[in-house]
Formats: sequence, structure tokens, C-alpha cells
Amino acid sequence: MGRTLQNTMVNLALENACDEAMYQIGLDMEELEDMEEDAGLGNGGLGRLAACFLDSMASLGMAAYGYGIRYEFGIFNQKIASGWQVEEADDWLRYGNPWEKARPEYMRPVHFYGKTEHHPDGVKWVDTQVVLALPYDTPVPGYRNNYVNTMRLWSAKAPCEFNLKDFNIGGYIQAVLDRNLAENISRVLYPNDNFFEGKELRLKQEYFVVSATLQDIIRRFKVSKFGSREIARTDFSKLPDKVAIQLNDTHPSMAIPELMRVLVDIEKLSWDNAWDICVRTCAYTNHTVLPEALERWPVDLFAHLLPRHLEIIYEINRRHLEVIAAKFPGDHDRLRRMSLIEEGGQKRINMAHLCIVGSHAVNGVAQIHSDILKATVFKDFYEMEPHKFQNKTNGITPRRWLVMCNPGLAEVIAERIGEDFIRDLSQLKVLRKYVNDEAFIRDVAKVKQLICQSEINILPYKVHATTQQLFSNCQPLKVFVPVPSISKEPNKHWTPRTVMIGGKAAPGYHTAKMIIRLITAIGDVVNNDPVIGDRLKVIFLENYRVTLAEKVIPAADLSEQISTAGTEASGTGNMKFMLNGALTIGTMDGANVEMAEEAGEDNLFIFGMRVDDVEALDKKGYHAAEYYNHLPELKQAIDQIAGGFFSPKQPDLFKEIVNMLMHHDRFKVFADYEDYIKCQEKVNDLYKNPREWTKKVIYNIAGCGKFSSDRTIAQYAREIWGVEPTLEKLPNPDDNRGNNTAHQRFS
Ligand SMILES: *Cc1c(COP(=O)(O)O)cnc(C)c1O
Repeated sequence: MGRTLQNTMVNLALENACDEAMYQIGLDMEELEDMEEDAGLGNGGLGRLAACFLDSMASLGMAAYGYGIRYEFGIFNQKIASGWQVEEADDWLRYGNPWEKARPEYMRPVHFYGKTEHHPDGVKWVDTQVVLALPYDTPVPGYRNNYVNTMRLWSAKAPCEFNLKDFNIGGYIQAVLDRNLAENISRVLYPNDNFFEGKELRLKQEYFVVSATLQDIIRRFKVSKFGSREIARTDFSKLPDKVAIQLNDTHPSMAIPELMRVLVDIEKLSWDNAWDICVRTCAYTNHTVLPEALERWPVDLFAHLLPRHLEIIYEINRRHLEVIAAKFPGDHDRLRRMSLIEEGGQKRINMAHLCIVGSHAVNGVAQIHSDILKATVFKDFYEMEPHKFQNKTNGITPRRWLVMCNPGLAEVIAERIGEDFIRDLSQLKVLRKYVNDEAFIRDVAKVKQLICQSEINILPYKVHATTQQLFSNCQPLKVFVPVPSISKEPNKHWTPRTVMIGGKAAPGYHTAKMIIRLITAIGDVVNNDPVIGDRLKVIFLENYRVTLAEKVIPAADLSEQISTAGTEASGTGNMKFMLNGALTIGTMDGANVEMAEEAGEDNLFIFGMRVDDVEALDKKGYHAAEYYNHLPELKQAIDQIAGGFFSPKQPDLFKEIVNMLMHHDRFKVFADYEDYIKCQEKVNDLYKNPREWTKKVIYNIAGCGKFSSDRTIAQYAREIWGVEPTLEKLPNPDDNRGNNTAHQRFS
């Protein structure tokens, strides 16, 4: 979520009033804003997407809840010490959290372990251990429409009931100490992005949020006031008309067997009725095709932790395989491929398969990604149920990612086309008529220049400077300085560049940590080389997070979106840069493809293999050495890294990275190298012509309309949830109060 204060003021149109009020008591609003901790309750794009969606759902007048876990410790704080990443616990609740309200009245029990008993009247899950789920609500205000939704985060709480007669004093003390064990469920976020680690505590977290959330949904469904109260209490066939559950990746996939358990075991519906309700209620968004990210939980772990759910998954699978067998008689390999249970070695449950079977809609997050799903990982499922497969290209909220983080640019745009684009970003296309407007070109360039000159506190690794010093490049330059050339006399026409790279390595991901160390090592050499001087700076951004992204993205001229085609599902960082007036150098991957379509392919720097080329290369066989041997500059760079040029005290430090690049590089980065360097030459050439550069920037901003999360959410609403978004405003609650004294006192 990042911070909440400024977002609340922007959405409620309170920013000027609050600034003024603070000023009058001798305080500074920005100083207050800087005291707020980021809520870092996710690992990256997946979590930030959900946060943008919450803003859009409230802004489009939709009654929506965001459910999650109130982690006591969010994503770790990253420190850089002697060039290495060091992790620090994110104690974000240390000084309290003014935005949340505990709702103990909605506390719910969540069960684990135990065993199942099969009786004539149904199945009972008994001898379980109970953990309480205590909800904390955070308001989610819509943009100036007087709607407020709720983000409800669950915190684990140990129940208080002890069997007192069994306790002596030691037993009592131990029982109280053991409360920690239960409460550990919401203690800390697993810091893996796009990587599956089959830990029991993580599975507990996933079931915990799902079970508490479904109980909350069903409680609300039962007391809701539609139709007859009696019918509402019992008629679950209406559930899909009133509730849509969107599964954000497979992490909440247990919602499917849990909903079945509630409907069949507790509410006593028939399996067929329950299944129909479940499928019509649930929908699944896939966020990656990388095999190491796909959740495949060991059956043994399930049998121990959630025995009833394992039985239900087996029954779902039995019926699923029956359908396949009827449709494709004799195709045994297809049965094996499509099973929810992977046999051979340790038996595992494929959670993506469970999600597809248990949902009425399955979507990818950019067109190319949705196409890849249908053609590769989910091909068999697409052949069987093509109607389920959709695309919903990701988006970002223009409130946080333009109005809030770049008010100068928002103002320059509003001066030309009014303020309505903040609600309807497609209106940015009107800016195309200003591409030759000298005053507009000047204003857009000026905004970027002012940001570069402003003093911001980004405190990157070893550099404590204003952006003026960091972005000392506001004049044209010639080339991207290929690192191998740095020992030579640099070309006098080079344009200075500051290259910034940020990101957190999962603490157990050795290669990622070594890559961070390589970046800081290159910075140490490049930034202190007297010949290079101010022509190139390499900065590792310490502790990249939402608040740092808000500061650094508006300052950037060039956004590098250089994933090997077919590996990045969408990307949303690409959209943030585009909206903030950076040009993109990128591959035809993820949402880059649609960005090129919207802005015009000539207005992006597109390079590298297309998905087809990558497939062809895979068939032919990728050999890094071929590129290394044929590209002298690449060879020199790799030799320098391998030979200790950037780590003179430990010449072997980066040998393993080079070994990986030369022999085990799944991403085949050398195959894109030559085209990348050529494309960077084009970047340099264009940057020498500020007017032409800024014209392309304007085409890009004008092409950003599609990438509002309002558009994404309107599509989810209409094409999956069966709800209509609205830009209507609710009446301002203050308008009906007449001579409200409290109101008068504050106005
Ligand atoms: C937008 C955002 C991301 C996702 O960026 P991608 O470039 O799409 O991976 C990750 N982290 C933060 C802090 C963000 O703001």
C-alpha cells in the first residue's frame, strides 16, 4: 500500500486545507508525511496491483473489500553494508497505525490439523486446533466521490480457553507462552517474489486468510437485506449473484475447497449445487508462467494440516478427470497432464489447476501473457473450456502514480485538457494535438528539469545528494557508456548518464544477492574513476519500495523494461514511468507490447528477440559462448567481471555470476545484448535533440489512457463480476448536516 496520508488528502480534496492548517501552527506537511511508514505487506508488483485495484474500485463506486493478512512484519528493510544486502525486520507497527481499526466483533475461528469423520449425515472435521482471526479495517476512499471501501486484514490471535483442571502452574505458564505459536501465523511476510517455497507456515497463512475471509463473506451474505430475509439466509444459489471472489494468483486458491467444505459439510448442500455455486463465484488471475513460481503443495503436508480439504480436492479431481475422460477417450497422457494431483516422486497438488477447474474465468495480466497461457502452460485446459479464458491487462492508479507523485506534470496537463483525465485517463489522448505546441513541449520538459533540480531525500547507496547532483545529465550526451570502454579515454560527446537500479533479493536467493553486490561493485569503480568523472554514475537504490518509487520515477528520463520476451507477465513499473514522462527502452514482452501499440511503436525504443525468436533459439539451442566470442565489447565486459576488475580485493567474487551467464542462463540475456546496445545508441541520438525527445514523451503520455487501473477494474467488473462501474458521486455527508457545530468548528 505504501503510505496513506497524502493519498487520503488527494482523494478527499483536503490537501490545500491540511497544508494551510499545518502552516498556521508552524509545522510542515511534508515533514509530517515523511514520518509515516510504508505499509509493505507484499513483495512487489502483485501486491501493488491489488493496492491500485482498491483505489480504482472505490473510485468507480463499487462495493469491494480487499482482504489480506495484517503481517506484524512486512517486507524486510534492505540496508546496503559494504556493498552487500543486509535484511532488517520491518517493524512498521512500532509507533502504532492510525489508519486501522480493530473489529473484534467480527473475529472468527480458523481450524487446523485434526481428522475427518464420515457419518451418514455428512463429514465432520474434528479434533482441530483453533486460531482466531481478528480483523483490522483500513478505509479506502474513492477519488472525490464520497465512497469509502474497506481493506480488511486478519491478525492471528490465540484463543483463551484452557482446560484449567489439567494445569499445574507450569502448565498454565507454558500454555500462555505457547500462544505465540498460534499468533506466529500473521507474524511475517514470506519475502519470495515469483518463487514458491513449500513451507508449512506459509500454507497456514494461505488457509488462514481464506477461511477467515469466506466466513466474513458468508456472514454478510446471510444478514444482507436483499429479497426475503428467510431466503437470503438459506438460498446459497444467490451467492454468485451477490458475491464475486477474485483470486489474486493461486495464493488464496484454498478458497475453492474451503467454499465447498462450508457449503457441503456445514450448510448441507449437495455436491453438485455447491460446485455450481463455487465455480460461478470464483475467478482466477494468473500472474506468471515461470515454473519455479507455480504453487505445488505436497499432499503429505495437506493430509497433516488440512485433512478435510485434501479429501475435497481428491473429489474435485475425480470428477474433473471423469469429464476429461468422457471428452477425450483413451487420452491417458492428457489425464496425467491435467490432473490436480501430480504423481511421480512426492505427490503434489497443482494449485493453478485447482483454480482453473474451480473458477468460471481465468485471466492473464497482459495480452501477450494471456496468449501464452492458452498456448503453453494452460493449453489443455483452454482446449477443454475455451470460454473461461480472458485477458485483463494490468493498470496503475493515476491518483498515486501521477497526481500525488508528480503534481507538476498533472498541473501542466490539466492546464491544457482540464482535470477530468484523473477520473478518465483515456482523455490523455487529447494531448496528441499538443505535440507541436511549443509552450506545451517547454512545460513538459521544464517539469522534468525542476524535479531533477529539487532536493529529495532518496539517500541511495553511498550517495547523499540532491537529484541535481544525481541527474547531472540535463544536457545531450552521446552514448550509453559500455562498461568495457571505461579504461579508455571517453568520447567527449558522451552525454552523462545516471543509471539507477533498485530491488530486494529474497534473503535465501544467493544469485540475486550476488547481482546486487555486482551492481554496488560496478558503482564503486565507475563512480570514483577520474576519467569517467560525471559522465556516468551507477547508483544502487537502497530499500526500493512504494515511497521511493514515487520519488524516483517522476525524475527518470528512460525506463528500462528489458525482460527476455515471454518471461514478464505484464509489468506495472513500465506504466508508471510512461505516465511520468520517461521513454521506454524495452523488449516486446508483457504490457510493453500494448504500450507500443498505444503510443506508436516509433515512440518507444523496442529491441531484442520476440517470443517467436526465443522459441526458435530454444529449439536451436542457446550457447552463450557464441555471443561472447563474436561480440568483443561483451567479451571485454564479461572478462572484466570475471577477472576482478570490479572486485580487486576479491578477484573471484563474481566468477559464479559469469559462470551462470555463460552456462546456465535460462533468460538467455547475451542473445539480446547486441540489439540492446544498438538501441541505446538510438536513445543517445534522440536525447541530443531535446525537442524531439519531448515530443515522443508527449506521445507516450497521450497513449497512457489504457494503463489506468480504472480501465482494468471496469473490465473485471463487466466481463467477470457482472457489475457496472459508475463515476456517480454520493452526496457529501457534510451537505446534509445543516448547522453542525463540529463542522463549523473545523471549517
Ligand atoms: C510498481 C512497483 C513494483 C512492480 O514493478 P514491475 O516493474 O512491474 O516489476 C514493484 N515494487 C514497487 C515498490 C512498485 O511500486
